[in-house]
Amino acid sequence: MFKFRIGDEVLVTAGRDKGKKGKIEKVFPKIDKVTVENINIYKRHRKVSKSQAAGIYEISRPISCAKIAVICPKCTKVTRINFGYDGKNKQRLCVKCQGSLTT
Ligand SMILES: [Zn+2]
Repeated sequence: MFKFRIGDEVLVTAGRDKGKKGKIEKVFPKIDKVTVENINIYKRHRKVSKSQAAGIYEISRPISCAKIAVICPKCTKVTRINFGYDGKNKQRLCVKCQGSLTT
């Protein structure tokens, strides 16, 4: 089970965008990476093609999960995720407040 979900708010803890916060846009469990809005943006200059107008496109590059920390929506602290069970259902729990995060 992957720790991160689309829509989680995360803090970047290392690299160029250290200290920035954003929401996860996509997850790539196989490569242990996620893309976060406005984080690790790079600009691409494109020429006109059949499908696109010319211009500068901003694209979020995937960032390693080792460089981000989840912000708990319940206690609003930077936290880590534990897995627990609520009856049969596996849940993601905040290690600080034990609140369940959305799955
Ligand atoms: Zn919490």
